[in-house]
Amino acid sequence: MAFKQLVFSGVQPTGNLHLGNYLGAIVKFVDLQRSHDCIYCVVDLHAITVWQDPVELKRNIREVTAAFIACGIDPKAHIVFNQSQVAEHAELAWVFNCVARLGWLNRMTQFKEKAGKDRENASVGLYAYPSLMAADILVYRATHVPVGEDQKQHLELSRDIAQKFNNDFGDSIRSHGFGDAFFPQPEPLIQGPATRVMSLRDGTKKMSKSDASDYSRINLTDDAEAIAQKIRKAKTDPEALPSEEKGLGSRPEADNLVGIDAALKATPKAAVLQEFGGGQFSTFKSALVELAVSKLGPIGAEMKRLVQDTAFIDSVLADGSARAQALAAETMKSVKDIVGFVRR
Ligand code: ATP
Ligand code: MG
Repeated sequence: MAFKQLVFSGVQPTGNLHLGNYLGAIVKFVDLQRSHDCIYCVVDLHAITVWQDPVELKRNIREVTAAFIACGIDPKAHIVFNQSQVAEHAELAWVFNCVARLGWLNRMTQFKEKAGKDRENASVGLYAYPSLMAADILVYRATHVPVGEDQKQHLELSRDIAQKFNNDFGDSIRSHGFGDAFFPQPEPLIQGPATRVMSLRDGTKKMSKSDASDYSRINLTDDAEAIAQKIRKAKTDPEALPSEEKGLGSRPEADNLVGIDAALKATPKAAVLQEFGGGQFSTFKSALVELAVSKLGPIGAEMKRLVQDTAFIDSVLADGSARAQALAAETMKSVKDIVGFVRR
């Protein structure tokens, strides 16, 4: 069966939105609007899998919404909303908790990283995170999911859940007139030179919201001065930049900065090396500062303006939630019929 093409993705309101979120995810969200119907979600139910201060959570939900709009997402032409306003996400996640296997979740590296050494003390929600993520996507029967490289494993799990649901309930799916498959196999869209932006302090660690050092990341709300300082202080090695991509192989920090430059310009890394190969890092860094400030400066300023207008942001989320819920409720009706629940 052919499924209607639909894009879904989400960002957690966990503070410190950074260049990795922008290049790995949000830039793709913006591009896909031209070719697809898109649903972009502020995934607040995911955020509370680790402790969130209630006052900050609210502020962060509005800030991610402001970032979506400031980066160029059109909440009228597409759908922008926060997850907790559409209860069907949690409802389908429960069904998926009963489809997914413990063995599958035990392999998830994000849980291992985030739970750390004190695994006994991690929330049950953090463990079950991937089945909620599968529900986020599949409650819309979405077919395409733009994400950073770190989410690849969770996307594979979403596909496994969709497939097991389709198999386990195969007879019921057919008898209810849905053909051979009720859920599509959602496809990850992980492309380009910045699918995994690394920390500016350590080229082997992902740039992350939770890194203790603010110098490890460029925040979307950083001003020109902060962006310049962070890039100038970014870790590098003493060699000049190579002219060919293979020369970046064992140089994670150089590779990362070249990848960032390429992604900001929307060109391949090879093109950046053609321009800067053989030259000193300082020359390259100065050019990168100028580029980053020109791209991110206006976004940060617009975000700061938009978050002030709480009424506007909340109305965007209310409107998006209503439209998302209309779609999700249809899917849940069918899921209930397929599973064998009695419903009104
Ligand atoms: P957290 O530490 O709270 O998980 P996060 O920075 O990983 O925060 P998420 O909200 O989990 O942010 O992810 C939002 C999107 O940004 C996802 O598609 C994710 O793959 C992408 N992303 C996150 N970090 C990076 C990165 N360093 N490089 C590229 N993409 C990233
Ligand atoms: Mg994450």
